[in-house]
Amino acid sequence: MPPATVPPSALADTERGSFSPPTCRPVPAAQAAAAIKVYGRGETAVRALDGIDLEFAAGQFTAIMGPSGSGKSTLLHCLAGLDRLTTGETYIGEVALSRLSDYQLTLLRRQRVGFIFQSLNLVPTLDALENIMLPLAIAGGKPGPGVVDGVVRMTGLADRLHHRPSELSGGQQQRVAAARALVSRPEIIFADEPTGNLDSRSGGELLAFLRRAVDELGQTIVMVTHDALAASHADRVIFLADGRVASEMRSPTADAVLDAVRAPGGRIASGDL
Ligand code: ADP
Repeated sequence: MPPATVPPSALADTERGSFSPPTCRPVPAAQAAAAIKVYGRGETAVRALDGIDLEFAAGQFTAIMGPSGSGKSTLLHCLAGLDRLTTGETYIGEVALSRLSDYQLTLLRRQRVGFIFQSLNLVPTLDALENIMLPLAIAGGKPGPGVVDGVVRMTGLADRLHHRPSELSGGQQQRVAAARALVSRPEIIFADEPTGNLDSRSGGELLAFLRRAVDELGQTIVMVTHDALAASHADRVIFLADGRVASEMRSPTADAVLDAVRAPGGRIASGDL
């Protein structure tokens, strides 16, 4: 499908009869617009997302941080089409997710979205390469020329490709899971605490891999993390608090993220790190 060039917000302007000229800005890889998510009803209702407007540019690596309960996972799940908003809209490319049936949502996730979660979901009876190739095998697709070689080279696991997950370290398994998310070249990858269970060396290797996927393959990644060092690998950090965007930082360094987190009355309680 050729990339669309008119963002949904511009379409909305046109529909309202405004005469603002169409922009040539490329459509973001994902967007949230006035996103509200309420769990439960009445007195026990929880407003997990309280009016979030965000765009995630294609080819960028974004980290989402915030205290426990600030809405990070809910935002990630609603952006990725794993959960539905109460009101507002999320988009993958130009597609408004609220307009899709559950079946269409499943297809969209399969065809256009990659996931890296803490629970790796590697198939124990398949070796690393077979696990990496599994989504393509299921979709019946073929990778572009050189894509598999490129992704495998970036994982640094070329000599481990015929080992089963139980024969790999936790860090190696997580890189297999990341390569599996990457090999079908999804428009966007959502990662939920991908370094959460890893020691710092393995975590660093995974983050370097994700960074290379952005720099060398133009991949778009949105990653929830509690870790300032992990966030410093991103191009941009979004800080959530109470279901809202509290602030954001471009070109973050680990020290700058830590300062933001630890500032008095700061965006994130330091005890959350
Ligand atoms: P975070 O990922 O930042 O820890 P979450 O998105 O998991 O935050 O949760 C945001 C708020 O929504 C929290 O108050 C949490 O308790 C609540 N919440 C999350 N999922 C559910 C659910 N399935 N049912 C009810 N409340 C939920």
